[in-house]
Amino acid sequence: MKILIATDMEGITGVTTWEQVTPGHAEYARFRRLMTQDVNAAIRGAFDAGADEVVVADGHWNGSNILIEELDARAKLNTGSPSPLSMMEGMDESIDGVIFIGYHARNGSPSAILDHTWSSKTVANIWLNDILTGEYGLNAAVAGHFDAPVIMVSGDQTACAQVTELLGDLETAVVKQASGRFAAECLAPQVTQEMIRLSAERAVERLAQGDMHVPFVLGTPITVTVEFFTSDMADRATRIPFTKRDGTRVSLTVQEMTSAYNGFRAMVMLAAG
Ligand SMILES: [Zn+2]
Repeated sequence: MKILIATDMEGITGVTTWEQVTPGHAEYARFRRLMTQDVNAAIRGAFDAGADEVVVADGHWNGSNILIEELDARAKLNTGSPSPLSMMEGMDESIDGVIFIGYHARNGSPSAILDHTWSSKTVANIWLNDILTGEYGLNAAVAGHFDAPVIMVSGDQTACAQVTELLGDLETAVVKQASGRFAAECLAPQVTQEMIRLSAERAVERLAQGDMHVPFVLGTPITVTVEFFTSDMADRATRIPFTKRDGTRVSLTVQEMTSAYNGFRAMVMLAAG
């Protein structure tokens, strides 16, 4: 059994501010260590449940957050950017299940730490076909393209609820209760790391027993629609051939999810100017 641990930083233990997840700020050094520890807890849980291989994708910012010198030595780390599959780098047909660590809710969510959708400066909303979702939905659909389910998520209560609502009954580790965008009741790392380890262990056990829901596979063709914050962002995104424009919304229709993912990333890169 081979597991991909796809990581982000906003849903890591104790995180409540942008400074804590942004390189160059004094607090960042502490929280990249806590991110590494949350990831290590998931790696331990996966191996405890009998996983043969664990691959990690460092999916926040420039993909250079996890401290490799402190990473559980049994795992491999995909780091750096841009990589072909970004937050899902390492995903291929050999992966049996995907774990999301440190995930956050989509933009506009109440009681959600650092809620945003891929880019807090450009993207208001995204839809996959007609499903309003966040980056968790995009990443789950990439996993689905390679026929693997998402089996666990860690983050605040709202992130875990949104992923569960989209994907069905999977294991969750709620490491903090958000009361606003920048405020939460947080559990200590000793507590959350054990929660994450146990959730990952249960998730991989359930996967091995065939007791996990089916992969998230979208009907084709796949339309990805991005609502930008301003019209100049939409102006730039529509430079991509075959996009369609409706106000600040730009959509692209393609035949497979990896192309939708790349088209979405290209739109956001262009929109940023
Ligand atoms: Zn992030």
